[in-house]
Amino acid sequence: MSKGTRQTLNSSFARNHYDVVIAGARCAGASTAMLLARRGLRVLVVDPLRYGSDTLSTHALMRGAVLQLHRWGVLDAVRASGAPPIKATTFHYGNETIEVPIKPRDGVDALYAPRRTVLDPILVDAAREAGAEVVYGQSVVDVTRDTNGRVRGARIAGTDRRPVDVSAELVIGADGLRSRVARIVEAQVVYTAPHAACSIYGYWQGIPLQGYHWFYEPNVSIGTIPTNDGATCVFALIPQARFMERRRAGIETLFDGALAAVSPELRDQARSTVPFQTLRAFPGSPGFLRRVVGPGWLLVGDAGYFRDPITAHGITDALREAELISRAITADGDRGLQEYQAGRDELVMGLLDVTDRIASFEWSLEEVKEHHLELNRQMKAEVDVLLALD
Ligand SMILES: Cc1cc2nc3c(=O)[nH]c(=O)nc-3n(C[C@H](O)[C@H](O)[C@H](O)COP(=O)(O)OP(=O)(O)OC[C@H]3O[C@@H](n4cnc5c(N)ncnc54)[C@H](O)[C@@H]3O)c2cc1C
Repeated sequence: MSKGTRQTLNSSFARNHYDVVIAGARCAGASTAMLLARRGLRVLVVDPLRYGSDTLSTHALMRGAVLQLHRWGVLDAVRASGAPPIKATTFHYGNETIEVPIKPRDGVDALYAPRRTVLDPILVDAAREAGAEVVYGQSVVDVTRDTNGRVRGARIAGTDRRPVDVSAELVIGADGLRSRVARIVEAQVVYTAPHAACSIYGYWQGIPLQGYHWFYEPNVSIGTIPTNDGATCVFALIPQARFMERRRAGIETLFDGALAAVSPELRDQARSTVPFQTLRAFPGSPGFLRRVVGPGWLLVGDAGYFRDPITAHGITDALREAELISRAITADGDRGLQEYQAGRDELVMGLLDVTDRIASFEWSLEEVKEHHLELNRQMKAEVDVLLALD
């Protein structure tokens, strides 16, 4: 990539010109930064929050994500964090229980579910180690363009709100579901999914379930995700419309009711120990696909593609996209990126569709089982794409 015009050095960043400026320093932004920096690009990442902060998200990783962490050499740091190995996923459809063991292959012998306060800093550390500059307390507030309208840099502001212009060959929005970069560049939404579910979750010590457990009953799903510090994340999902109708009851009541409807035993376990964090709720947001490639800009992670959290696949998506997009940037420039866009659409449409069908709650227990088989096929296809990169 060519060097841009050198301006007076600003005080917030080491340079005035970068190959790539990335908005957002979590799973999508930090891993894209790490991969691009490892390929020798000069990368700046900014995020308004602080290093190691939490975000509204549970954190179950699927095989594709663990494969990526292994390949990138950061899986040992995840293991060292104390996130327990997940050796099986157990599906409960009413009274039927199906346990699916995690088969050891391709460097993945278990899944993991590190807290976001653990995973995101591991990726940021790896990005910094690769040479990327990661600056917290700063947001991309606008882009700068040349006379042809191509994005040529980012306007970045800290809490003092005094903006600084940094020029770049590419500006990447890895700034999540409500992406400001996507809004600024007017990235077109090409598909919106019709459904959304509400998620409520919290953390408990001493829940005796091992591995991931996903439970399904009409109009409700609950589950458990073992994570760092001996804690288990317990979550409940209900249709968004039901949440809107009943939210005045309070999220504690809705959560307790969901657990009671599906697993009174789990509710009793949760009631008998003290949660160590208050419950958090996500009211739901329909899935969407945006165009993710434009002149001088890209979107990665939730900024470009959101699917309901019910299939716990967003982080896995973000890590896969980071890999594919960084290869496309460094391999073939603009042509590679156009091909990336087409490939991305094809790869994720099936995932988005089956996720939306599960989030609709318009299924019988037999039907949701079929949806999971379809989801499993989609995830195998995703892993095949990643393995083919070798
Ligand atoms: C309730 C819930 C549960 C979930 N559970 C799971 C799960 O179990 N497994 C799973 O894989 N996925 C799960 N997800 C999805 C997952 O959280 C997302 O897919 C993932 O966080 C996307 O990562 P990201 O890096 O694209 O965006 P984010 O994690 O949202 O990070 C975006 C970052 O951009 C920063 N930012 C925002 N605006 C700007 C700006 N203007 N300039 C610079 N930076 C900016 C933000 O501060 C933030 O740090 C869940 C989501 C929800 C809501």
